[in-house]
Order: sequence, then structure tokens, then C-alpha cells
Amino acid sequence: MTTALLTPAEPAAGAPVARRVLTGDRPTGPLHLGHYFGTLQNRVRLQHQGAELFVVVADYQVITDRDIADRLAEHSEGLVIDYLATGLDPDRATIFAHSAVPALNQLLLPFLSLVSVAELSRNPTVKDEIAHSRQAAVSGLMFTYPVHQAADILFCKADQVPVGQDQLPHLEVARTVARRFNERYGARGPVFPEPRALLSATPLLLGTDGTKMSKSRGNAIPLAADEDTTARLIRGARTDAERRITYDPATRPGVAGLLQLAALCQGRAPEQVAEELGDGGAAALKRTVTESVNEHLRPIRARRAELAADRGHIRQVLRAGAERANAVADATLGEVRTAMGSVGSD
Ligand code: ATP
Ligand code: MG
Repeated sequence: MTTALLTPAEPAAGAPVARRVLTGDRPTGPLHLGHYFGTLQNRVRLQHQGAELFVVVADYQVITDRDIADRLAEHSEGLVIDYLATGLDPDRATIFAHSAVPALNQLLLPFLSLVSVAELSRNPTVKDEIAHSRQAAVSGLMFTYPVHQAADILFCKADQVPVGQDQLPHLEVARTVARRFNERYGARGPVFPEPRALLSATPLLLGTDGTKMSKSRGNAIPLAADEDTTARLIRGARTDAERRITYDPATRPGVAGLLQLAALCQGRAPEQVAEELGDGGAAALKRTVTESVNEHLRPIRARRAELAADRGHIRQVLRAGAERANAVADATLGEVRTAMGSVGSD
């Protein structure tokens, strides 16, 4: 089960080599092309370069912006299937559910004391997620979400975090928490490294409505969708009446998003795809995008179907991941308690 479907790439010139990498997703629905081009490819690339990967299925984060976690087990297992189908190796990567690692929530308490309410209210991603929230009132969990995420990142002392653009403000919080913890309690040396965000060449893929492709905004093309569904989703994408196809993200976001998708799947520049389509209009553009996406995802989808047939294996991956993540989190919590001078359990 270790075949990688993505080509390993060399690190960018001058980029530090990652040793430990933490990344993850909320089990709010199936992963989509935004995840694939935004972070999944980078995860597999880092794995090929020998980094130790921790991948969190962020199940408690589902209830930051909704009242209940709908179909949680199904979505969580779906994420694991997507990870393995795109090339993560469960023998090398630690894939675990947040709720299976209680020490993460113990780390949250001292971390909460290191940030101010004003800092949390200014966080642009929190503001954006509140705007898209399905709840009438903002919960305390939503408000403290970035600190929660800091615990997810810092428990394993990750030095790199492959993320999409929307996560940059959260990563800043994790860096602040690490720095302040070290300043306040690091008399005998720093406990946490300051993690760096790793953006891909596609830090923000647009969805079929011209805004950020998101699991929960009804604008995504899931990796798991079949070819006909993919065609239908792309046919419904928002474009304009202009017949000439040009790549112009500022004035034609719908067309530009589609061109970007075709280009990513074909490994070419969006301008080149536009040039080729010429006066073909939106229908021809959508046909090209559909063919490119379906062709690119065909091997991943075939592998997905094989993996989905063995749920026992997927649950075993999560169990083994939880065991390893718990050992690492308990050790870090021990260091935190020692640094803070806590007594009582040793
Ligand atoms: P939800 O709508 O439930 O918040 P989501 O689609 O935003 O789901 P997340 O689980 O919140 O997905 O994000 C997981 C990771 O994928 C994050 O690192 C995020 O930055 C990245 N990501 C999500 N959507 C995109 C996108 N459209 N382009 C690039 N990266 C993305
Ligand atoms: Mg999100």
C-alpha cells in the first residue's frame, strides 16, 4: 500500500529541509481539488524527502462552526482514504483523530493563557469562518480555534506545516504561542520550535462559484466524485458570456478558476490553455476542464475505490496513528508540565 501517485519533487532552492511536519483537515466532507493542489501534493513531496509526517483528522474542529458533527465517522474515514489514495504511506506517516489524543486538550489550557482576546478577535480567518458559520451565535470553541490548532501543531514539535492560504493567520498564532511559551517557561531551553507555513504554488484554489473551494460551501469538486458528477459540477460553474477565453483572475474569476484547474491537471500555464481555446467559449472550456480533471484523477480514484472496500484497514491506520500520536503528545505534555513547575502526577 505504498505506491505514490505523485512525483517527488526537489525542495525549492534555499528552502530548509523539513524534519517534522504536521498537517490536517476537518472531517466536514470529502476532500477536494483545493486540498489536493493546496496541500496534499506537498505532504507527499515532504514524505518522499524523508520528513516525519503527522496528519490530524481534526474532528473536534468540526463543531467550531456547526451544532453537530454530521456523519463524523464516515467523513473521518473518507479523509484517511483520500490521504492513502494520493500517496501518503501509513507506515511512515502518523494519521490520527484529534479526539483520540487527550493530551492535545491539556496543552490547550496553558496555550490559551498566552494569547489575548483582542488578538483572537482580530484573526482574519476566524472572522471569515464566523461569517460562513452555520450557527446563530459564535461559540467559545470557534473563538479559540486557532489556539486549539496551535496545540495540534506544537504537540509534535512540527517545523513545517503545509497549508492553504486561509490558514496563514492560524499559523501565526501557533508561532506566537511557541515563542511566548519559550519566553515564559523556557529557562532551561526552548520547548517548542516556531513552525513555518509551507504554501504550495496553488495556495487558494477557487470553487465553481468563483470563491475559495471549500467542503462546506457547495462549490467543490471532490476527489471521490465519479466522472459524470465531475462533469455536472464543472458544467454548473459560474462563467461569463464572453466567447474569447482569456486568463484574467481580476476581471474574470470564474473563467480564470477553470483555466487554473485545467492547467494544474495538464501541468501547463493557464495562459497556454486559454490561448488554445481561443474563441471556443465557456462550453469548450468546461469540456477541457472536465477531461483534464477526470484524466488526472483517474488513478487516484481507482486506488480510492480499492481502499474504500477495506474499512478495517482504514480503522487500523487510525488506531496505530492514535497510539503513536498519544506517545508523542504525552511526552510533550510532560515537558510542558516540568517547564511550568507543575507537580502531582510524577
Ligand atoms: P470547510 O469548508 O469545512 O472549512 P475546507 O475545504 O476549508 O473545509 P479544511 O479542512 O478547513 O477544508 O482545510 C484543510 C486544509 O486544506 C487547510 O490547510 C486549508 O488551507 C487547505 N485548503 C482548503 N481549501 C483550499 C483551497 N481552496 N485552496 C487551497 N488550499 C485549501
Ligand atoms: Mg476550512
